[in-house]
Amino acid sequence: MPGQNLTIDEARERARLLDVEAYDVALDLRSAARPEPDGSTGTFRSVTTIRFRCSQPGASTHADLLAPAVHAVTLNGRALDPAEVFDGSRIAIDGLAESNELVVDASCAYSRTGEGLHRFHDPVDDETYLYTQYEPADARRVFANFEQPDLKAPFTFTVTAPSHWTVLSNEAATGEPEDVGEDAAVRRFAPTKPISTYLTAIVAGPYHYVRDSYARALPDGSRLEIPLGALCRASLAEHFDADDIFTVTKQGLDFFHDNFDYPYPFGKYDQAFVPEYNIGAMENPGCVTFREEFVFRGKVTDASYEGRAGVVLHEMAHMWFGDLVTMRWWDDLWLKESFADFMGALATVESTRFKDAWITFANRRKAWAYRQDQLPTTHPITADIRDLEDAKLNFDGITYAKGASVLKQLVAYVGRDAFLEGARRYFKRHAYGNTTLQDLLSVLEETSGRDMSTWSRAWLQTAGANALTPQVLLDSSGRVTEVAVLQEATASHPELRPHRVAVGLYRRGTDGSITRTGRAETDVARPRTVVADLAGAERPDLVLVNDEDLTYCKMRFDEASLETLRSHLGDIADPMARALCWSALWNLTRDALVPARDYIGMVLRFAGRESDIGVLQTLHQQAQTALNHYADPDWRVEGGRQLAAGAVHELRMSEPGSGHQLAWARFFAAVAGSESDLRLLNGLLDGSAKIDGLEVDQELRWTFREALASRGVADEAAIEAELARDDTASGRRHQARCLAARPSAEVKAQAWRSVVESDELPNALVEAVISGFNQPGQRELLAPYAREYFAVIERIWSTRTIEIAMRVVSGLFPSLQISPSTLELADAWLAQAPPVPSLRRLVLEARDDLARALRAQQCDHPVG
Ligand SMILES: [Zn+2]
Repeated sequence: MPGQNLTIDEARERARLLDVEAYDVALDLRSAARPEPDGSTGTFRSVTTIRFRCSQPGASTHADLLAPAVHAVTLNGRALDPAEVFDGSRIAIDGLAESNELVVDASCAYSRTGEGLHRFHDPVDDETYLYTQYEPADARRVFANFEQPDLKAPFTFTVTAPSHWTVLSNEAATGEPEDVGEDAAVRRFAPTKPISTYLTAIVAGPYHYVRDSYARALPDGSRLEIPLGALCRASLAEHFDADDIFTVTKQGLDFFHDNFDYPYPFGKYDQAFVPEYNIGAMENPGCVTFREEFVFRGKVTDASYEGRAGVVLHEMAHMWFGDLVTMRWWDDLWLKESFADFMGALATVESTRFKDAWITFANRRKAWAYRQDQLPTTHPITADIRDLEDAKLNFDGITYAKGASVLKQLVAYVGRDAFLEGARRYFKRHAYGNTTLQDLLSVLEETSGRDMSTWSRAWLQTAGANALTPQVLLDSSGRVTEVAVLQEATASHPELRPHRVAVGLYRRGTDGSITRTGRAETDVARPRTVVADLAGAERPDLVLVNDEDLTYCKMRFDEASLETLRSHLGDIADPMARALCWSALWNLTRDALVPARDYIGMVLRFAGRESDIGVLQTLHQQAQTALNHYADPDWRVEGGRQLAAGAVHELRMSEPGSGHQLAWARFFAAVAGSESDLRLLNGLLDGSAKIDGLEVDQELRWTFREALASRGVADEAAIEAELARDDTASGRRHQARCLAARPSAEVKAQAWRSVVESDELPNALVEAVISGFNQPGQRELLAPYAREYFAVIERIWSTRTIEIAMRVVSGLFPSLQISPSTLELADAWLAQAPPVPSLRRLVLEARDDLARALRAQQCDHPVG
């Protein structure tokens, strides 16, 4: 990624000089519909006119553009020589006037990596689908601009494309498409509100487009109408449940209007589900894009529907937090992401049918934060982002999940009214502007009456998680004399924080169930805090120091509580309390304080009784990680056998046709190992075996097929036959994964070559091949690639786009070679690696996961 960076200092200087008045962008996408004869990605014409003011006439600066060719550059009527002013990523402009017009005529490249204007070919109907993805700085791959979030402007897009296509942008089109012959038409879109470059969007292709509308009365008596649209590829239309998406969308619009007191500012609201998408979704105002895996091709559990609703609402929250009010630079990325994550969860709980979304948040979302926050690369929520490469890596568990957790804690601390009133003032005060942390703290100080600087220092400007542990003192009759909460920090992040917590005391009743018998809310700031209200209570069997999940901490247990969990976790009646216990046990396992086989044992004993489907699916994933990474290698085969036996038992016992049954079926495929396991999978595929209520649809077929392929049971012919049943883009991704999963040295070499030595695969196939390549049961086959990995990553980093480079560097790290010698390889590379901070960061993080796995294996099999 040479020469494509932009530093914070350059951005500040440019923002000081410039005030952008308007963009006109004309894109000619007619070339997309015809395949390139030479198989290349192809190019399109992009003509941009930027009108802007300069506060210091005579000054010079640059515009951003990543393009294979620039045909003409005109500044204030003066033609500049592209060969002189364009270096491949920047256009130098000098001698600026007070009022300027820059025109850039370029050929830009379609993308196959999901960065810029992505071009996808659908094998089912031979059609082409396009969409853009820009954050943080890929609009410059599509048109010339000043690529930084604080130079907002109105954008007017004009797109020439095949007549039969649906073409969408942030704003609605003005008038009918104008026919320009040869089955092509020009669409003109209304100017956008002032927005940042990274938020602009184009979606174009013969998409299946479903319409609806939303209306409500506003407090001033006027009526707000929002045209709604939902779209996906035509060949996915049969699976598209637009109704459910519209239901959640309307519930969300109700919720945000009720709470934000600022009418949705961007006109219409389209939601496009697009192919080969790198991330979950993107909040382009009026034109949100989602990964099309949210269009479910087969049966999924309710956790998937809840997850989709959460993403729909996360993106909708961004219309206010992020789009209307935008961070000045990427160091305040959390300002929008933490808020969207928190408000998305709150809106899910309060406005949709998914009332248990806080359980998912506690159990799944926070696990992401706890992991990230214990890596050596963790950082304060308000991060130090020097340049665009830093920014790209900052879309992490701290910025999203920890930030949202900390906002949840803030609501417990200042109260919901003060928090939401702060948000309302923030929107009104900074509409269409850019902000920093201080702007948010000011409104919160006004509305809460509290000094936010102390809170901000403790929670936003330091890194690390505190551990909270209960201490219970009893008198001779067994009654509680004192309950205290002990707070600890780590040596590397020694900050103790003010935590608002609810402490819960739980007891086993005569019917065996464990319920709460005492609760007290208190502020914990010091190393030891006595919870006075709980003195005199009956002796608890279980103490939760972060009951209800108000704060962000690693919740620990006293010995008595841990003993209760080992034998009775499944008896805890409240699903949130149970989820918190699972989550805390997982942290203990990761920290090598509970042996992996004990955790797996608890999953085997209690997961079958877990009512929350999201929690169950998390347990399935964590049990696999425990087995493949944290368990003593000598026990791994036995542990796998136990998990498979447990899975098949639960699969047969769970309610026919339920989500639980489907989850156990998928888990069984992941851990199946014995001959009889594989026979059952094969039987479910060919119809000779049946499990009452389990429908083996095409997606489940692929899951079983991959399991068989990785165990050497499904050969190339079996995989080809599966593809013949499902020759779609999704089918081809599954096929690539299955092929790479087969246990042979040639297969591994071929998979490695296809992503490391060649850059022809699009992003989605790179992802599929990498995930097929990494099979826990193939450690010996994969061993030679450990050394190879460290020999190639510098080259990968310097020659691929950052999205692909990140995928390869993280995905191919030898994380299954859990040994001191792999650590030595990583350390040797780190000791002499080039000073590329973002590449180092990825390797450091993977190395830390490896070191953690070694510690956990020690705990599972103590030496001596
Ligand atoms: Zn977001």
